[in-house]
Amino acid sequence: MGEKIIAITDLRRTPAPAGARPPASGLAAGDARLDLLGRHLGDLRISVTDRCNFRCRYCMPREVFDTRHAFLPHAALLSFEEIARLARLFADAGVAKLRLTGGEPLLRKNLEHLVAMLAELRTPAGAPLDLALTTNGSLLARKARSLKAAGLRRVTVSLDAIDDDVFRAMNDVGFAVEDVLEGIDAALAAGLGPVKVNMVVKKGTNDRQVVPLARALAARYGDGVVLRFIEFMDVGSTNGWRLDDVLPSQDVLAQLREIGELEPLEANADGETAQRWRFRDGGQEIGLISSVTRAFCGSCTRARLSTDGQLFLCLFGTHGHDLRALLRGGASDADIAATIDQVWAGRGDRYSALRSAATAAAHERAAGERRVEMHYIGG
Ligand code: SAM
Ligand code: SF4
Ligand code: SF4
Repeated sequence: MGEKIIAITDLRRTPAPAGARPPASGLAAGDARLDLLGRHLGDLRISVTDRCNFRCRYCMPREVFDTRHAFLPHAALLSFEEIARLARLFADAGVAKLRLTGGEPLLRKNLEHLVAMLAELRTPAGAPLDLALTTNGSLLARKARSLKAAGLRRVTVSLDAIDDDVFRAMNDVGFAVEDVLEGIDAALAAGLGPVKVNMVVKKGTNDRQVVPLARALAARYGDGVVLRFIEFMDVGSTNGWRLDDVLPSQDVLAQLREIGELEPLEANADGETAQRWRFRDGGQEIGLISSVTRAFCGSCTRARLSTDGQLFLCLFGTHGHDLRALLRGGASDADIAATIDQVWAGRGDRYSALRSAATAAAHERAAGERRVEMHYIGG
C-alpha cells in the first residue's frame, strides 16, 4: 500500500493572468496534482503512431514486427482533434511539456497540423507548452522547416553509432548515419536546437561507439548538440533484454574521460531524467540516462498517451486507462479532466526503482503479464 499524500496548494504561486481559462476539472489554476508518491503531473508523451520504418533490435526486432504483425488500424488511432483535446485537458491538469513520439512520429501524415494545434495550447497561467518531438531522424531533413513553422520547439534525434556498419545493423533496415546527420543539420538550421541526440548503449553491440560518436558530433556541431547515453532497458517483452547487455552509465563516463575532463552540471528542469555533464574545454554537454543503474522514479512526472488513447503511468506499465472510450462516448471536458485527476492521484508506479539485477525476471513472472511495447506508448 502506498503512503497517502495529501495534496497542498502552494500559496506562493502567482495568480493566473486575467482571461486565463479555468481548468475543466474545477481545481484552481496552479494546483498540483500529486500521485501517491507526491509526484506532480508535468509531462505528457504522445505516441502518434505505432509504426516505424526502422527495426532497432532493442525496440522492434524484425522477427516479431514483421509483415504478419498487426499494427493498429487507422480508425483506432486518436485523431489530431482528439489528441489536441486531451492535451488541452492535460495542460489544465499541470502538464507543461508535450513530446510527440511513437513509433516513428514523422511517419504520421500531416503531423505539422497536429503540431500547430498543440502550439496553440496554454497552461492555466497562460504560458505556451514546451513542445518537442523524438525521432529517428530519417525524415527530418525533409520536415524540419515545416515542423518549426508549425510551432515545434525542439527535437531529440536517436543515433546509436557513428560507424555506418554498426548503425545499419542496429536499425536493421540499412539506414545510413549520414542521412540522420543531415536531419540534425536541418533541425539546427531550422532553429530547432539545441538538438539532443540519444544513443542507446548495448554492450557488445555499440559500446565501442561512445567515444567516436561524441568526437564526431563535437567536430560537426560543437556545443550545438547535447549527446545523451541511455542504458538499454527491459521495456516491452520482445527485445530479449538481459542485464549483461546493459553498459552502466558509469562505464560510459569512464570511456568519455578519454576525450577530456568532464564536470557535472546542475539538473535544469524538474523531472529531468539525465545527469548532465560537460567537457571542461570543448563545452559539449553530455547526458547520462541511467534507467537501470540509477532509477529516477522519485522525480518521474511523465504520463504517456498511447497511439489509441490509453493513458499509461509508467514506461513499464501493463495496463492503460481508456481515454479514447471517454472521448468517443461523448464525455464532457469535466468528466475527462476528473478521470485524469483520479488516475494520476492513484499512481504508485516506480518500476525501475523496484527492479534489481536479480529480480527483473522475477518481476516479469510475478506480474504474469506482458509489459506494453515502447513504440506503442511512446519512448
Ligand atoms: N522512433 C523514434 C526514435 O527512435 O527516436 C521515437 C520513438 S523511440 C521508442 C524513443 C526512444 O526510445 C529512442 O531514443 C530509442 O532509442 C529509445 N528506446 C527504444 N527502446 C529502448 C530500450 N529498450 N532501452 C532504452 N531506450 C530505448
Ligand atoms: Fe523505431 Fe524508434 Fe523503436 Fe528504433 S527506437 S524501432 S526508430 S520506434
Ligand atoms: Fe517513471 Fe516508470 Fe520510468 Fe520509474 S520506471 S522513471 S515511474 S516511467
